[in-house]
Amino acid sequence: MHSDFDHNTQYRRKVLQVLLVITFVGGFVFGLINIYRGLYILAGLEMGYGIFSFLVWRRIMNTTRFQFWVTAYLLPFFSIMMFALSVPNSSQSIYVWILTIPVISYLLMGRKPGLYFSIVFMTLGICIFHLKFLTDDIPLNVTVSLNVILSGVLMIALAHVYERNRETNEERLLELAGTDKLTGLANRMKLIDSFAATSEYAKRHNLDMSVVLFDLDFFKNINDLHGHHGGDAALCFVADFLKKHTRKSDLLARFGGEEFALVMQGSKPKDSFQQIDSLRKKLLETPFIYNKQTVNITFSAGISHYGADGVNLDDLLVKADERLYLAKEKGRNCVVDHNLKD
Ligand code: GH3
Ligand code: MG
Ligand code: MG
Repeated sequence: MHSDFDHNTQYRRKVLQVLLVITFVGGFVFGLINIYRGLYILAGLEMGYGIFSFLVWRRIMNTTRFQFWVTAYLLPFFSIMMFALSVPNSSQSIYVWILTIPVISYLLMGRKPGLYFSIVFMTLGICIFHLKFLTDDIPLNVTVSLNVILSGVLMIALAHVYERNRETNEERLLELAGTDKLTGLANRMKLIDSFAATSEYAKRHNLDMSVVLFDLDFFKNINDLHGHHGGDAALCFVADFLKKHTRKSDLLARFGGEEFALVMQGSKPKDSFQQIDSLRKKLLETPFIYNKQTVNITFSAGISHYGADGVNLDDLLVKADERLYLAKEKGRNCVVDHNLKD
């Protein structure tokens, strides 16, 4: 979730940078044109906005309140558009700018705020455009009116579909990047990514948390006896077994070749040990059949505890790995946590 947010902000920061250059230059160019045309208030607003764009440029480079600055930038931008459209002597062609509202809003703010901003300002723009027709004493032409309304609706619809599609693709890519292809479990990257939120939650609610590292025993023998496909099938079997017998709130991942990791949230140290040890016994009683042959699979596991063994994932994994090594030394098919390491 964290990296998703950072990625989106980086992408939006780039879009905003391009826009800031355009509004900085545009503010001064249009300001000068409008001074020449005698529209001094509009010229002042445009030039002031050009300077404001420069100031925003300096802020957005390293702000953590990106959404705030985007809103602070877009509100006056769109308001000046509305004002420019409503000024009696301004050109009707300003309406063309109104069509950029959905594109800019969706690109900078995402789907929901983008939709709200687009609807509010496009509706305002279309209303002002029509009112101007009335005050200018030009008969309202149905074709012009329909063109204005339909082009506005079309731009919102296209921006909405584009952003939705982009979000879906991004979610799909993130999901794929965090999934182990063989077992369908989360991979190491996803575990590292999710741990930040899990440990934050545990800290806030004063919950216990344990980290478990599993390593299958003599897995090379399974590959040797049943071939690589047999080994793969055994890995999928263990992944399904672990998934079935752990809680949904636990983080389960394939950590490497035949190693799995589990983050158990809200589990007291003694309970974690008992749970993993009963899992070990259960696996002994759950035969894996491959090509009509029973394949005996066992695991060794090391457990570390949040707080006592560290608070960051690296430290907890190092401790769990040390205890996994002890479990292997003890003869395999056993679980070691700090209480039992001697
Ligand atoms: P122990 O852990 O009990 O010490 O013995 P082991 O035989 O499991 O030892 P080790 O951890 O050294 O070997 C792991 C083996 O797992 C080696 C590698 O060929 C196999 N392996 C790793 N990834 C995969 C995979 O994706 N598919 C298959 N079939 N085998 C894999
Ligand atoms: Mg191993
Ligand atoms: Mg092994």
